[in-house]
Amino acid sequence: MPTLDLANAKPVVVPPATTEPRALPAKPSLVGQGRDELKAALAAIGIEGREARMRVSQLWGWIYQRGARTFEEMSNVSKHLRQALAEAYTLDRPEVVAEQVSQDGTRKWLMRIPPSMAGEKWHEIETVYIPTRDRGTLCISSQVGCTLTCSFCHTGTQKLVRNLTAAEIVAQVIVARDHLGDWPGQEPPEGAFVPTDGGRFVTNIVFMGMGEPLYNVENVTGALMTLLDPDGLQFSKRRVTLSTSGVVPEIGRVGAETGVALAISLHAVRDDLRDELVPLNRKYPIAELLDACRTYPAASNARRITFEYVMLKGVNDSVDDARRLVRLLKGIPAKINLIPFNPWPGSKYECSDWEQIERFSEVVFEAGYSSPVRTPRGRDILAACGQLKSETERLRAKDKAALMSKAEQDAFRAMSMVD
Ligand code: SF4
Repeated sequence: MPTLDLANAKPVVVPPATTEPRALPAKPSLVGQGRDELKAALAAIGIEGREARMRVSQLWGWIYQRGARTFEEMSNVSKHLRQALAEAYTLDRPEVVAEQVSQDGTRKWLMRIPPSMAGEKWHEIETVYIPTRDRGTLCISSQVGCTLTCSFCHTGTQKLVRNLTAAEIVAQVIVARDHLGDWPGQEPPEGAFVPTDGGRFVTNIVFMGMGEPLYNVENVTGALMTLLDPDGLQFSKRRVTLSTSGVVPEIGRVGAETGVALAISLHAVRDDLRDELVPLNRKYPIAELLDACRTYPAASNARRITFEYVMLKGVNDSVDDARRLVRLLKGIPAKINLIPFNPWPGSKYECSDWEQIERFSEVVFEAGYSSPVRTPRGRDILAACGQLKSETERLRAKDKAALMSKAEQDAFRAMSMVD
């Protein structure tokens, strides 16, 4: 099983971010493209029919199973075709402008992606890798910014800029595997989490980064097809979780088409409060959202829907709230993740006291639900839930202190034992 080598965990490393984006790409990259797009790329250089099918399979294997960075290394592809591919395309990844490594082993990459159309600017997105004792989870983004303005979420303070393409979503996984040394024959970076069973470093994917995945459903579904492909990146649908704040009309469809696990950002048990915390609730209130969960095609007692519940002091953390939560989830194969609130500069909420989180958790547990308290990860690099924001902001000393007050450090230690 993979293990987290905390003894060798590195301190925070913040390489200076480059300030100027590189020049606009002269050629398109094939990294992140689906099978149909690769076929179209081959057709554009004159490869069609049966040969195209065979060449797509070869490219697919080199890009997604071996992490190829050049066409030259594709030894089973003819020299002539390698040259033709190199003249028309690249295997470039999004540029990593900063990599931060938390004291707990969490890694955050700030990536720069090129404009999708003339006149658009370069954008920055964030991807976070969270190693634990039995898995390496990659939290990926689906949009630049977000439209949904959830009041506890730092990302929600950044306006939606644009949807990520399917290729840009998949490319985050490629970049993470590059940086973790997660391709055959590669060595991991010094101090990194190392699976002792020789398995992959990225074992799980969660769509919990920037953006609402179901507001970019076509591209997210397209990316999932590449991520789940048994000849490609080979992620099991049981190890991929799509998290939504409740875009009800898309929930059943994405479950039927992809079969991935579902997580719901619930955070409140009354519509009046959820309207404030997750404003999308005004459109799709709690009862409608839970109905969609009851009929989610990929849920069962063995594959429970995760309900995310951020613990906000004096806001949603009473024992009555916990009892109401249990009643609401009746009949749904569910587990509940209690998330201690991660403060960010300017946020108006505080994290619930540890004793109150325990009281809440007990009610949920006694009702028969698993209710792990999720250990906050990567706080020192602003990589924890709700803290992603693409601009690397310079924090004032006061804000830095708010991120790790003594009380939080105590809670952090206590919660570390729970996870
Ligand atoms: S919690 Fe998710 S959906 Fe809500 S604002 Fe943040 S990124 Fe957007």
